[in-house]
Order: sequence, then structure tokens, then C-alpha cells
Amino acid sequence: MIENVTQAIAVGEKYYGICKDTENFLCVSYGYGIGSAIVTNGRLYKGCRGFAGELGHIVMDKNGPRCDCGGYGCLEAISSRNAIAKCAKERVGRGERTSILELAGNIGGIEAKTVLDAAKAGDAVASSIVENAIEYLGIAIAGMITMLDLEVIVMSGGITHAGKFLTDRLERHVERHKMRYSGQDAKIVISKFGSDAAAIGAASLILNRWVECGGNPNAL
Ligand SMILES: [Zn+2]
Repeated sequence: MIENVTQAIAVGEKYYGICKDTENFLCVSYGYGIGSAIVTNGRLYKGCRGFAGELGHIVMDKNGPRCDCGGYGCLEAISSRNAIAKCAKERVGRGERTSILELAGNIGGIEAKTVLDAAKAGDAVASSIVENAIEYLGIAIAGMITMLDLEVIVMSGGITHAGKFLTDRLERHVERHKMRYSGQDAKIVISKFGSDAAAIGAASLILNRWVECGGNPNAL
């Protein structure tokens, strides 16, 4: 079976993870890129050609930075790990006073993690980069909640190591930007699968199919 990685993660979360008892949720993969998978009424929503959930390529700013997809101002070009590192490199390159360079050793060594660590330590430049990235992600998620009236947003991917630092800020922005009646009490949680999320998701696809086939391996 071949599946988009974030959609596989969502299946894993539905059958074995944090969303076992949740029928309507969004699974967000937040790392070097940004992807999502939508589960409504307990089923993965794939769209007409299987491309549903490309959260990272929603245009947030028509004059924004170039995205790998060829567009401009996509969420991924503003909020992803790559975008955070790129923005920090530009600001350090302009000579702004920040501890990011010291933490990274040299400008080429700046990664999103360096910027997050500096932000957690109270560095003003790092904080403004991280806050901007998380705010745009929050606005995009708020839009999804407003559209789909979701119960849970489950986050996976590299940046989720930031834990409560990330979810506290996301919750604030989501609450501010979603329609008041949509997704009331919607929770933002971090996947418990860590870096195994994709592998567990892939295994879940097969197990789920096997169960649907009544446990008959010949029917797979
Ligand atoms: Zn894009």
C-alpha cells in the first residue's frame, strides 16, 4: 500500500493513538514542511484525487516568501522549520543583535531548534521569529476548525519537541482566529508516537485493511 505520510499518521492516531475516541480531527505534521490529514466522522478525508489536507500550501500572504511548491506566501514558507531557520539566517546576516549566532556557532549552523532554544531563553529576535511562525500556523489551523468544526488537532513532526511552549502559543492564536462557535473546546495535543508516528501509521494502514477484510490475508 502507498499512502501520503501525514494521512498514514492520521490513520495510526485514529486506531492506536491519541484520537482513538475522536471522530473529527486534524493531524498536523509540523517539521521541515507542513502537512495535514483530515478525519471526519471517523474516516480519512482524501478529496477527489487524494490531495486533501495540504495545509502547508494554503497561501497566507500573497506577497510572502517563495515556497518549494512554486507559489508565494504559503504557510510552509512562513512557519516550517526551514522557514524559521531561513528567517533567522537573514536577520543574523543583517547584523541584528541576537544570541542565535552564538548558539549555532556559525550562520550556516542555524536550525529551527537553535531559534526555538534562543526564544525559550528570552532572546527577542528569536522570539519574534518563532511567534510569527506559530501565529500563522495558528491562523491556518483556526481556519480548518472554522471549516470543519473539529474536536482535536494532533501535532506530530520535529517541532513538536517544543511541547507546551508550542501548544500554549498555538492555542492562543487558534482561539483568537477561529469562529467562536466552531470547534468549541477543541484541543491541541502532541502525538505520543514521536518519531515513530509515520512507521506506526504505515503499519496501521495494513492492520486496518486486514481487519476490514475480516482477517483474511488473501483478501488484502
Ligand atoms: Zn507552497
